[in-house]
Amino acid sequence: MSHPAPDIDLSALQADLRQLVEIESPSSDPLAVAHVMNVVEGWARALGAETHALGGGTRVFRFGVDGTRPPLLVLTHADTVWPHGTLAHMPFRVDGERLYGPGTYDMKAGIAGLFHALRALRGEWPRGGVTVLLSPDEETGSETSRAHIEAAARQSRAALVVEPPVADTHALKTGRKGTGSFTLTFTGIASHAGNKPEEGASAITAAAEAVLALQALARPEAGTTVSVGLMAGGSAVNVIPADCTLHLDLRVSTLAEAERLDAAVRAWRPGDARVQVNVAGGLNRPPFEQGPGTLALYEQARAIAGDLGFDLPHAVVGGGSDGNFTAPIIPTLDGLGAPGDGAHAAHEHVRLDRWPDHVRLLTRLLREV
Ligand SMILES: [Zn+2]
Repeated sequence: MSHPAPDIDLSALQADLRQLVEIESPSSDPLAVAHVMNVVEGWARALGAETHALGGGTRVFRFGVDGTRPPLLVLTHADTVWPHGTLAHMPFRVDGERLYGPGTYDMKAGIAGLFHALRALRGEWPRGGVTVLLSPDEETGSETSRAHIEAAARQSRAALVVEPPVADTHALKTGRKGTGSFTLTFTGIASHAGNKPEEGASAITAAAEAVLALQALARPEAGTTVSVGLMAGGSAVNVIPADCTLHLDLRVSTLAEAERLDAAVRAWRPGDARVQVNVAGGLNRPPFEQGPGTLALYEQARAIAGDLGFDLPHAVVGGGSDGNFTAPIIPTLDGLGAPGDGAHAAHEHVRLDRWPDHVRLLTRLLREV
């Protein structure tokens, strides 16, 4: 390769990450998320990007997009799962090779690393350029950003996602399960539990049947999992319950399984026909099926990592990302953020010893894909 691996200034990388982490940005607070985006937009402008604010809070930064061929798309998100006040008990801190803090690993370090990689290109954008998309609501399902992500994918040649690698490894993500959720609302008939139980129709009994019946739709061997994670119902202990609600999480590896689940959930009825069932929800993110385009991208990344002196495995994982929206449209390589562990957990951290290798890898991918 004609370009040497760029030098990574680890202290500058940490300083950039600190700036993002110390602005708390729960998905539920668009103004806080926009505050993080403003910082990132400042970095983008300093590199000469053309910047755009889209409806719903998504931002797009274009670097050297010149129409000679479709640009490379890089997906990031500025929101985290952490509520305001988290920094007070989980501050940004370095302990040995680990850098802790809310949103470090998922995925503010991905954003900081991306901008170091972009700076390392020194204004020599790849032919066709690079589009960076910053989503405000990835952690809650990308409701406002999904259409923008899909539109950007249709205009791009490939997508790189700077979500973190597989926990505690260097492994990239070449496939993800599709994710969905359903809310089932049961409406029965209330009645006195002692005097006239036969006049009641229990919404809780119906919901209990549903928990067992719907979870039995799982096919772990095919990658399909189903779990009722939340359930609430009833009004008083001596009343046959007229109301119950349950929330179901589902994960699928293929679209065919998603369709099977969707049809089965909607068709299910309780034993007591007097209980009404209302079904809301469905598939949120389609499965990111491991296609040949993605595997070719992975092989390219693996060769670069070999050049840089580290092993780069890959894996298919259960959790979804915005890569699930681009993978059905263009080759997508995910997990190009910072190595570490503890996404959505109190021990969330980035590995400082492994991070520079991934920034070097990303720099080379931006230049060569
Ligand atoms: Zn993430």
